[in-house]
Amino acid sequence: MAEEPTMKTPGYGRVLAIDDEEPVVDAIARMLRAEGYFVETATSGASGVKLFEQGLHDLVLTDLRLGDMTGTEVLREVKKIHPKSAVIILTGYATTESAVEAIKLGANDYLTKPVRMSELSMAVRNQMAAVKLSEQIALLNEEVAAERDKLKRTVAELTLMKRLASRMMSALSYFEGFELILNFLVEEVKADVAVIYDLERRTARLSANSYANPTELQQLSEIVNWQAEAIAPGNTCSVGAFEATGDPVEGSEETSIASSLSVTLLQEGRPFALLVAASRSDRGFHHKWQDFANKIAQEASDFLSRVKRSVELQQHWTSAIVEHTIDGLVVMHLASDQFLVNPVARSFLGVPLGQELTLAMLEERLSLKLSEILEELNKPDENGALKRTIVRHADLLWRGQTLYVRLNFSRMQIGAASAGTDLLLVMQDVTQERNVEEMKAKLMSNISHELRTPTAVVKEFISLILDGVAGELSTAQKQYIQIMQSNVERLSRLIENLLTLARSDTGGFTIVLRPVELGAVIDTVAASLTPKLAKKGMKLVVDLPPAIPLIYADRDAVTQVLTNLVENARKYSPDNTMVTIKAAPKGSRVEIAVIDQGYGIPPEEHEAVFKRFHRLVDKNDPRFQEGVGLGLPLVKDLVTRHGGDIWLTSEVGKGSTFFVSLQVAQEDEEYRPA
Ligand code: ADP
Repeated sequence: MAEEPTMKTPGYGRVLAIDDEEPVVDAIARMLRAEGYFVETATSGASGVKLFEQGLHDLVLTDLRLGDMTGTEVLREVKKIHPKSAVIILTGYATTESAVEAIKLGANDYLTKPVRMSELSMAVRNQMAAVKLSEQIALLNEEVAAERDKLKRTVAELTLMKRLASRMMSALSYFEGFELILNFLVEEVKADVAVIYDLERRTARLSANSYANPTELQQLSEIVNWQAEAIAPGNTCSVGAFEATGDPVEGSEETSIASSLSVTLLQEGRPFALLVAASRSDRGFHHKWQDFANKIAQEASDFLSRVKRSVELQQHWTSAIVEHTIDGLVVMHLASDQFLVNPVARSFLGVPLGQELTLAMLEERLSLKLSEILEELNKPDENGALKRTIVRHADLLWRGQTLYVRLNFSRMQIGAASAGTDLLLVMQDVTQERNVEEMKAKLMSNISHELRTPTAVVKEFISLILDGVAGELSTAQKQYIQIMQSNVERLSRLIENLLTLARSDTGGFTIVLRPVELGAVIDTVAASLTPKLAKKGMKLVVDLPPAIPLIYADRDAVTQVLTNLVENARKYSPDNTMVTIKAAPKGSRVEIAVIDQGYGIPPEEHEAVFKRFHRLVDKNDPRFQEGVGLGLPLVKDLVTRHGGDIWLTSEVGKGSTFFVSLQVAQEDEEYRPA
């Protein structure tokens, strides 16, 4: 059997032959069939047009003169029904002009009767080829247009995906990332609600800004369950599982979900969530949105892997830091009595690997109470601010030696619920630093001690010389030796100050508190310093009430305190001014004041003057050249060791008053070491 001719087969095609002379039509049909065409015939114009309507033949052969209509009319009908079909007009000699007319009207060719078979065959082949060619061109054009559409869509999608990707790049957390994906989906797929259903946690999240009403939630959970069941059997989601964020749907009219689109999100090839977009309109989601949603899902999966990788990296880094830091770290979740201890802290605290650290153990090793630390950390100061850290020290036994460890406690928050009870402890071994400090203090103490005796001897012999024990002195000699005396005195006071401070630092100095008669101490100090003040034309006035209670103090220390204060009053006052020492009982204390009429101290320096080596002086100003900045720190140290207070008031250009308050002694009190 011959191959069924098809539209696509070149050389073949469908032909309709119309002629009112049946033998002619039959002859034409026979010949064309022999050449492989599919041929249908008609013997009238009307039946021909009808056949054509059904068959839409590629080529119509029609006689110009038919019984019921003319070939030109047939031509017009054919071109109206299917313009792409070719029409060949058959005509006798007499009507050649009409045939030419027909060509003008759109016929593709004409043949004169009687038709020669070779001519017919040639004409049909030519027209058929033209028809097939234009058909193919049309087909190609269609394909090109489709491709162009596809390309346009791809470019549009790519642009969108790029936008999503760049937004995702800056998303920091899972939540933020998903929030973005959901919003993007709602925007781009023209959905009304978008949900991510977490297959593991079995919860669904609504995207922000597209809150659904209860009916819709119910529908959504059905949609989600239907999908989830197929992926992970046993998963169900109820309306309650929706963590809705955003504003509720406006208006009260019942809305409901009409169409939805779901894609699976994969993490390392494993489904972990569903991405569901739903719409209130029933226009449905075009399949291209399905593709697009799949791409978004791919982006979401990539995002997840990225976040996961960065979380893993961060964890890796954090644990590397915690493991390898040279400080001991203890994270305390006191609410649950749980501790996270790094290897250094384990070693400091003597907690072997595998053993849990407990609160009792920690408090025992560090000799402190954590509740007190917490209380101190959470207590606002007078400005309402909380302390950032609290520093303590502890001696810890470590591999047979004692370590001096600095403990820094600071507040931290592990979970949202445990605010105020989580602590971070950083332990630093400062043994070496302390040893160096101790050595420095000891060195200072030794040096000043060694300087003290020869200075005292020099001072003594200068007195003897001035007293004339070694013979009469000339006026000039006397004057020079007096200069030596005042400088040696300065030197010896400096040494005394240094020695006391150094001993205080090394703990080699104890204050012994006894009831002391303050008046006597003040008199001694006044007697020894009056001559010195006199050299500047200054007067020292002691102004005491008739009776002052005994104070509880170390006599030598109080002497040194008052000497330093009066000395400063002398040093930092102009000539011919007055210094007054006053004392008065104030409750259980006695308040002593040393008042001068000197240069004064600006308010911002009132605290700083008690710091070691702090001097508010211009080194070029001759008034301030004497001194090193240790006098007031020593005074403060001594007063504090008495449990007393020291403070000052001052007015620049008018003078300063230094106040010292000390404890009143009880009648029966003997003494106790401070
Ligand atoms: P020094 O007198 O050796 O410098 P001090 O510690 O005794 O060290 O005093 C610190 C600084 O405080 C002094 O340098 C001086 O500037 C200031 N100062 C101390 N006492 C007075 C005072 N009575 N009047 C003005 N300034 C003073």
